[in-house]
Amino acid sequence: MSNTSTGSYPCPYCNKRKLETTATAPYVRGFLLAYQIGKKSYIGCTSCVKKKVLGEAGLSALLGWFSITALIINPFLIIYNLIQGLTISANPVKVKMKLREMGIPENPSAVNITDAGCALAASMILADGDVDDQEIRIAEEIGEKIFGDFEEANLHLLLSGSKNLPAPMDMAIILRDALDQDGKALIFKYLLAIAQADGNVSAEEKTLLQQVATGMQLDMAQFNSQG
Ligand SMILES: [Zn+2]
Repeated sequence: MSNTSTGSYPCPYCNKRKLETTATAPYVRGFLLAYQIGKKSYIGCTSCVKKKVLGEAGLSALLGWFSITALIINPFLIIYNLIQGLTISANPVKVKMKLREMGIPENPSAVNITDAGCALAASMILADGDVDDQEIRIAEEIGEKIFGDFEEANLHLLLSGSKNLPAPMDMAIILRDALDQDGKALIFKYLLAIAQADGNVSAEEKTLLQQVATGMQLDMAQFNSQG
């Protein structure tokens, strides 16, 4: 189940350093009359998380103005993210808390395939914005079929406890070394089944699935041959 003996998870952005800190960056994007407000959660080494938060401030400075509401909110969010980005430091306690939110143990060698699958499924479900009950029910039903030790409550907790899980690709990279190919294939099968459950896999879902497969270094040839 694991091939990592010691140490912690890799930073998903540089792949060199370890997880050292985490930050949540609020953002707003305007589209003339409508606007979208949300939060992005980053977990990685201090230097990469700093870049991500400052990058979000920069992106908001470019893209956050195109509606009246966004125009009002955006300066506050940019300043918040600038200050947060500039003052960020290593914070092992926050990393531990974020891993717990993700349902992932502190020690990579203790990662369980089902928990990793749930974390990735939750992140994928949260990635498209709204979480609808139908989606959750389907994810639970499929989870029970795929994993022997699936606990509905765990997925529920992930989806209700926090809306700020790291992006699916970030999680996939973090979990990469803690899972073997069989575990990765099973998790991918689960995510694919969730995406297919509503009859069609949207372009966004396809992109997410590709990112997850690449992120966790899933051997797709092996996956395909398994059917
Ligand atoms: Zn890094």
